Amino acid sequence: LPLAREARDIVRTTCAYCGVGCGVLASSDGQGGATVAGDPAHPANFGRLCSKGSALGETLGLEGRLLAPVIGGRPAGWDEALDHVANRFAAIAAAHGPDAIAFYVSGQLLTEDYYVANKLLKGFIGSRHLDTNSRLCMASSVAGHRRAFGSDTVPGTYEDLELADLVVLVGSNLAWCHPVLFQRIAAAREARPDMRVVVVDPRRTATCDIADLHLPLAAGSDVALFNGLLLHLHDTGVVDRRFVDRHTVGLDAALAAARAATPDVAAVARWCGLPAADVARLYAWVAQSERTVTVYSQGVNQSSAGTDKVNAIINTHLLTGRIGRPGMGPFSVTGQPNAMGGREVGALANQLAAHMDYDDPVAIDRVRRFWQAPHLATGAGHKAIDLFRAIGTGEIKAVWVMATNPAVSMPDAGQVVRALQACDFVVVSDFVRDTDTARLAHVLLPAAAWGEKDGTVTNSERRISRQRPLRPAPGLARPDWWALSQIGRRLGYAEAFDYHGPADIFREHARLSAFENDGARAFDIGAVADIPASLYDGLEPFQWPWRAGESGLQQRLFGDGSFHTPDRRGRFVAVTPRPPCHAATEAFPLVLNTGRYRDQWHTMTRTGRTPRLSAHRPVPLLAVHPDDAARFGLADDGLAHIESRWGAAVMRVQTTAEQRPGTVFAPMHWTGVLSAAGRVNEVVNPQADPISGQPELKATPVRVSAVATR
Ligand code: SF4
Repeated sequence: LPLAREARDIVRTTCAYCGVGCGVLASSDGQGGATVAGDPAHPANFGRLCSKGSALGETLGLEGRLLAPVIGGRPAGWDEALDHVANRFAAIAAAHGPDAIAFYVSGQLLTEDYYVANKLLKGFIGSRHLDTNSRLCMASSVAGHRRAFGSDTVPGTYEDLELADLVVLVGSNLAWCHPVLFQRIAAAREARPDMRVVVVDPRRTATCDIADLHLPLAAGSDVALFNGLLLHLHDTGVVDRRFVDRHTVGLDAALAAARAATPDVAAVARWCGLPAADVARLYAWVAQSERTVTVYSQGVNQSSAGTDKVNAIINTHLLTGRIGRPGMGPFSVTGQPNAMGGREVGALANQLAAHMDYDDPVAIDRVRRFWQAPHLATGAGHKAIDLFRAIGTGEIKAVWVMATNPAVSMPDAGQVVRALQACDFVVVSDFVRDTDTARLAHVLLPAAAWGEKDGTVTNSERRISRQRPLRPAPGLARPDWWALSQIGRRLGYAEAFDYHGPADIFREHARLSAFENDGARAFDIGAVADIPASLYDGLEPFQWPWRAGESGLQQRLFGDGSFHTPDRRGRFVAVTPRPPCHAATEAFPLVLNTGRYRDQWHTMTRTGRTPRLSAHRPVPLLAVHPDDAARFGLADDGLAHIESRWGAAVMRVQTTAEQRPGTVFAPMHWTGVLSAAGRVNEVVNPQADPISGQPELKATPVRVSAVATR
C-alpha cells in the first residue's frame, strides 16, 4: 500500500464536509493554516474540489477554538472534567435508570468516535437513547433501503452517474450540495451529448443549468410521480420479467396502490402540479433508457413521507432490473461526511451495532458476547425529535451532544433550546467554544478538529477513506473517541475501553462486523474485514463489503438479484401518495422550504471562518416568487418577518421567479449566535416520518410580512 505521507509534509486525507467524500492532499503552512488540493488518486473526486473543500486550509485558525474543558463556565483540566461527567452519569443512572442518559451525536464524527459512543452508551451505560443528526439527513433512505433490500446498502457507485444515459435528480441541488458529483455528471454529459439529465425539484436551482428537463413538482408529491412511472413502465412492457419473478416479491400490491391514486399521467400531473406533457416526457425517457440512475437527497428524505418516497423510487428500479449494474440504480447521496460511517456502526436509536438490529435476538446475543457488555440495551431508543422532547419532559436527565448544534439545526429549535435549558446535565463536545448549543452546556469538552482528527469516514458510495492529521490538536483538545473511552474507564470498564489509537477501534469494529458466522443477519453484509494494525495508517480508499478471504471488492451490489432479506428477494413496497402533514392555510398561506447555500456548511462553525466563502451569500435570504412578494407587500432586499405555528425569524427578501409560487425558501445555516432572529429552524415544524423519524424540514406553512425599517 502507498504510504500516507507521500512527501514529508503532504498528507492524504478526506474533506470534512459533504457525503461525496473527496480526497484531499494537505500540508500545514507552518502558520496555523494549510494548503490543500484535490487528490488525483482518490476515486471520489480524481483531483477535483469544490469551493468549500478548497477553502479547508483557511478554516484552521485558533480564533474561537475551545482549548480546554469548561465546567460551569470556568476552565478546568481533563481529569476534573472527566471525573465530573462520569460521576454525574453514574448518579443519574443510579437514581433514574440508564435510560435517563442520552447521547446526540453527528455525521461529523469519525467512524471510530461513533463506534465508541455507541458501545459506551448502549453496551455499558445501558441506555437506548443514542441518536444522531444524521436522522435529519438520510434516515428515510436507511429505512427505505432496509424495506427493499433487507439492509441499509447503497447498491451503486459514483461511476454509475457518469455511465448512465439518463440521470434523474430528485430533491437534490447537487450543484451546491454535492458539487464534485455534479461536476462529474456535467463532464460526462459534455463528453456524451446524448446523455440526459432531469431535475425533479420544486425550485429551479443551479443544478437545472445542465438539465434537459426540470419538473418543479408540488411539495410532497414524489410518490405520485414515481408510482405513475411504475405503472407506465409496467403497462408499456418495460419490465425485466426474469428479474422480477426470480428475485423480488410484492409487485402486484405496489401496482395496485399506484393504480388506485394515480391511474394515468393526467392524475399524476394533477397530484404534482405539473404539465402532463412534462410528466409524459420523463416517463418516455426512463422507458427508453436502460442505463437510468435515480439520484435522490434531502428533498426526498426530509419529509413526513420520506421512506415511502424512497421506496417509490426503488420500486421502479426493481421492476426494470436496473440495479447494481453499470449506469443503473437508485442512488441516495448523503449530506454529511460520515453519515454512512454512523450507519455502519449502528449509531442510530433504532439500530444496535454493525448493521444489526434489536429485532434479531441472535444479533443481541452476539453483540453482548462480543463487547462483553454488562448492560446491553435491548430495544430501540428515541429518535431525534422524540429524544429532545424527552429531555424537555424530564424523562431524559442528562445528554452528551457531540460535534453538532441541535439548538440551530433541529426543527422547532425553540423547543430544543427550552429542553436543553431545563435539562439537569448537558455535556457538549465541540472544537469551537461558542455555539447556540454550547451556551446551554454545563460541561464543555474540547474536541479535535479537521486537520487534527485521525480515523476513517465512509462516503455515499460505501467508500471508506482515512482522515489523517496535519498537526497535533491545539491546547487540551482531544479526539472524541478518547474522551468517550476515558468516561468508560471511569465508569469501571477499563478493559473494554483500553484503546491506544483509532486503529484499535477500527479493527474491533471490523471484527464485530464479521464476528462468527452464527446466523445473525448482519453477517450477510459483513461490512469490513479485519486488517493488521500496521496497514491502518496507509489504508487506501475502498468500498465495503470487504470480506476476509475474498479477493477483489464489490463495486456494485444486488445486480445478481441476491438481496439481504431472509429469502434473498428484493421487496416492492406498496406506497400511496400523501401530501405534507401540515398544509398551507388561510392563516399560514405559504409553504417554507429550507436548505443549503453553496459555500456554507451546516451552522457555519467552520465555513463561517473564511471571508472568501461568506462572500457568496453574506446574509440569509428568503427567496420569494415576485407574485407572492406583491401579494404580501414584500420588497426586494427589504426585511421579512416569517412566522409559523412554531416560531418566527427575520430575513432579507430576495424575489426570484425561480421560486414556485406559493412557496418560499430559506437557508438553514445562520445561528442565534450570529443574529438573534437568524435561526430559521425556529419556524420549521417538527413533524417526522412515522417510519424513519426524519423531520419534514421542507414543508412548513408560514405567513410573511414586511418589517418596517427607517
Ligand atoms: Fe468536500 Fe463535498 Fe466539496 Fe468534495 S464536494 S470538496 S467532499 S464539500
